[in-house]
Amino acid sequence: MPAPAKTVAVIGAGVVGLCTALQAQRKGYRVTLIDREAPGRGASFGNAGYLATELIDPLSSAKTLRGALAMLLDPHGPLALPLGYLHRSLPWLARFVAAARPAQVARSREGLRQLNRAAIGAWQRCLNDIGASEQLCQSGYLLVWESPERLAEARAHGRYLRQWNVPCELLDAARVAQLEPALAGTVSHALYFPEACRVREPYQLCRLLFAAFEARGGRFVQQAVESLAADTRQVEVSLVGRTLSADKAVICAGAWSKRLLRSTGIEVPLEAERGYHLSLQGVATGLTRPIGSAERRFVISPLDSGLRAVGFTEFGGLTLKPIRRRFKTLRRHSQALISALAEPSLQTSEWMGHRPTLPDSLPVIDRHPQLPRLLFAFGNQHLGLTQAAISAELVVDLMNDEAPALDPRPYRVERFRDAHRPHG
Ligand SMILES: Cc1cc2nc3c(=O)[nH]c(=O)nc-3n(C[C@H](O)[C@H](O)[C@H](O)COP(=O)(O)OP(=O)(O)OC[C@H]3O[C@@H](n4cnc5c(N)ncnc54)[C@H](O)[C@@H]3O)c2cc1C
Repeated sequence: MPAPAKTVAVIGAGVVGLCTALQAQRKGYRVTLIDREAPGRGASFGNAGYLATELIDPLSSAKTLRGALAMLLDPHGPLALPLGYLHRSLPWLARFVAAARPAQVARSREGLRQLNRAAIGAWQRCLNDIGASEQLCQSGYLLVWESPERLAEARAHGRYLRQWNVPCELLDAARVAQLEPALAGTVSHALYFPEACRVREPYQLCRLLFAAFEARGGRFVQQAVESLAADTRQVEVSLVGRTLSADKAVICAGAWSKRLLRSTGIEVPLEAERGYHLSLQGVATGLTRPIGSAERRFVISPLDSGLRAVGFTEFGGLTLKPIRRRFKTLRRHSQALISALAEPSLQTSEWMGHRPTLPDSLPVIDRHPQLPRLLFAFGNQHLGLTQAAISAELVVDLMNDEAPALDPRPYRVERFRDAHRPHG
């Protein structure tokens, strides 16, 4: 008799949990995926669909901190600390500031580079395997400036990125207009990333991942997980009114992972970094690639459904309502960059999501230090879509006791050791 298949519970059906569930199936596990919502309705629903592999620097650095005050004082600025949550975010902000130490910035950069370098290959493997390779396209990416006097800044940034093997070239206004006529007249210069990729539609991608998971015999339970416990033989996942058992469990609950880890005796300094989107349906601007604005600090991306503008870094926790004026700001930025968007009859939809962010900008991809049947994959901040498939490969390698293709040490949960409580 063959041994029965090992079982795993994956908690959270965002893009990270979906990729993890599929990867575990590929390794022969029987997988139960649990989410209190339908799959793909968390942060993975409304992102810009851009695989931002050039973002190799952590969010906290001396440069970010120098610019932070000006950003905070600008009512339309990209950074916000809502007053209703400030008292709760202060301890996290102190850790964030501490993570700007040069040695930590270097460690974080290495950790991010390692994941980002492997990210596209992992997505190709995942999508080829489920017959959805057309969901990924090599679109290129433009990081644009509107102020000619900031040419030196773009040149220096390009030099910096090339030094880390990120291919990019500096373009003048005429070349930008050739590549993206919709930007004509506003952009003075840009950095062009020819190898950059995007997905066609983030939520559709989640649906396809989920359909493949179900077609392969995966089971989905739509219920909230209250806590987890494990011993040497199994993991117990507590839902309202019942418990599920599995051989292993992986927590992929995005910005909500902190409470679940606490139930297993681990404290992590995870914050919800709120971001907003404005989707503009059915607009024909001809834009073919995501555009990031270095000055306005937002991204506008072409998706199958239209254009999507995304932005803001708002440390506002998990329960505050969205701040309405953010949507107006996104609209203003979009119209300033692409004049065709000034059309008042455009249909729009608005959304806010919670990015899972740790002070050092690295995710946690690890086993529980005392309970190795429990694993974690969360905390990919602005890069959760980019890094989902590679994070899934890494966590499933760890779960399966296989030698991982990447060095897992930068993503260890024990890097926050000083915050650990003894497990009892
Ligand atoms: C405006 C915006 C734009 C972005 N643009 C990009 C981009 O272009 N490229 C990129 O790489 N990244 C981008 N991101 C970041 C990216 O979207 C996230 O990092 C990523 O979606 C996180 O995926 P996840 O699976 O970890 O979390 P989520 O998608 O949030 O999924 C977590 C899931 O866990 C479930 N859950 C939580 N707690 C429980 C519980 N107790 N019981 C059961 N279920 C639970 C939730 O319901 C949710 O479905 C953007 C984010 C935002 C907000």
